[in-house]
Amino acid sequence: MVAPVRPAAAVRARSVADVQATLRWATAHGVPITPRGGGTGKAGGCVPCEGGVVLSLAGLDRLRSIRPEHGFAEVDAGLITGTFRDAADEARLYYPPDPGALDACTLGGNVATNAGGPAALKYGVTRDQVLGVEAVLADGTRIDLGRRQPKGVAGYDLARLLVGSEGTLAVVTGIRLALRARPASIVAALMPFATVQDAAQAVTLGRRSGLEPRALEFFDATALRRAAREPGFPFDPSWGALLLVEFDGEPGVPEASLARFAEGLGDRGPLEVRVAGDEARRRGLWQLRRRTSHLVKVGAVGWITEDVAVPLGSVPDLVERLPGIGEQHGVIALAYGHAGDGNLHVNLLWEDPSGAQFAERAADAVIAAALDLGGTISAEHGIGLAKRRFLPQEVGDRAIGLMRGIKQAFDPLGILNPQKVFRLQEPPC
Ligand SMILES: Cc1cc2nc3c(=O)[nH]c(=O)nc-3n(C[C@H](O)[C@H](O)[C@H](O)COP(=O)(O)OP(=O)(O)OC[C@H]3O[C@@H](n4cnc5c(N)ncnc54)[C@H](O)[C@@H]3O)c2cc1C
Repeated sequence: MVAPVRPAAAVRARSVADVQATLRWATAHGVPITPRGGGTGKAGGCVPCEGGVVLSLAGLDRLRSIRPEHGFAEVDAGLITGTFRDAADEARLYYPPDPGALDACTLGGNVATNAGGPAALKYGVTRDQVLGVEAVLADGTRIDLGRRQPKGVAGYDLARLLVGSEGTLAVVTGIRLALRARPASIVAALMPFATVQDAAQAVTLGRRSGLEPRALEFFDATALRRAAREPGFPFDPSWGALLLVEFDGEPGVPEASLARFAEGLGDRGPLEVRVAGDEARRRGLWQLRRRTSHLVKVGAVGWITEDVAVPLGSVPDLVERLPGIGEQHGVIALAYGHAGDGNLHVNLLWEDPSGAQFAERAADAVIAAALDLGGTISAEHGIGLAKRRFLPQEVGDRAIGLMRGIKQAFDPLGILNPQKVFRLQEPPC
């Protein structure tokens, strides 16, 4: 867990000019700036660990335009993701990224963390939707990067370099986002499995069958048991794990795909297929899915959340290793998440204060397992402060050196979100 820090001051920008003025001043006085969107990030990226000024983009929240003829929209960075998705929907268009905190996180924060979500499985993450980025550099210069059409290879792709840069290279003020046609029909179903291995196997086999699920979410039995203390959360003690599976397409296609998905699993298929009969029930399922992150932690006095991903065929290996890691280190280990992308949110919880001392070692073991299986330390939450110590293990010193060089080119004084992603100098915060 990352401890809270109080900055020296906070600026609530209402215009791009406010952002420019703040950064000019910060450069002149060598003051650290921590950009902040909705503050929902899970890696401590918007914690102002070096003090200085928190620069909130939340007041910069206009939907600038929706351009159906070009297939994109232009937005302010502080626009709430869910608000934008609703606006696209009203225009009969679709913006896929749907991070769990979509009612509180901003599109600028999504760009900074390259956010995903369940629908990333079929439609890709935030980076896959970004055509262009308007940003302000550390010295206050405004830049407009990227393109206005699907293709364009003029020079290095600096717009997408900013995607996932966690506020360390520039402050994003505006974004040009590609929009798609709204799917005609969407059907979701819950599929409980007798064992966690059957569910994990279904994740890998389901994707290989040529079907293209829109979402394939996994919950292990420990996550289910804890979340089911909330009335309405689906659970039966006979379930070893649960998948939430969703397909979209022309009317009739999602239902047929769901049936093919379940039947293709043969003897190790789901115990039952509970189709959400209407749109209200489907939305209800997703509300519960979005609350899982909170529900599983109720009753715990502390926790570490890892956001690892492994190659699809290794999902069964990862879920098999987790209970042993929990037992060995005396913490509760549970997993849920976007397993169709190989991504599991592994939560390490303790219900007694003494558990804290073992949790870091349990987290090390989860990271080691993910890397051993050829995976990544963070599929979508980013590095921030929380995962910083693991980054060299995944990318190596040479890549860290290249990243430092890029940081130096964008932000020579090191004032933008210093100490995030990797340490700039000792002593680090
Ligand atoms: C319940 C819950 C569920 C979640 N589910 C998902 C999920 O499914 N998928 C997923 O990917 N994430 C998920 N998240 C994590 C989080 O919502 C995302 O990381 C989101 O993109 C953060 O956006 P934000 O606006 O809250 O950014 P913040 O938390 O404010 O900031 C995150 C990082 O981005 C930087 N930043 C923010 N705005 C800007 C800007 N305009 N310019 C430059 N840098 C900026 C900050 O400095 C910080 O490093 C979840 C979080 C919660 C609490």
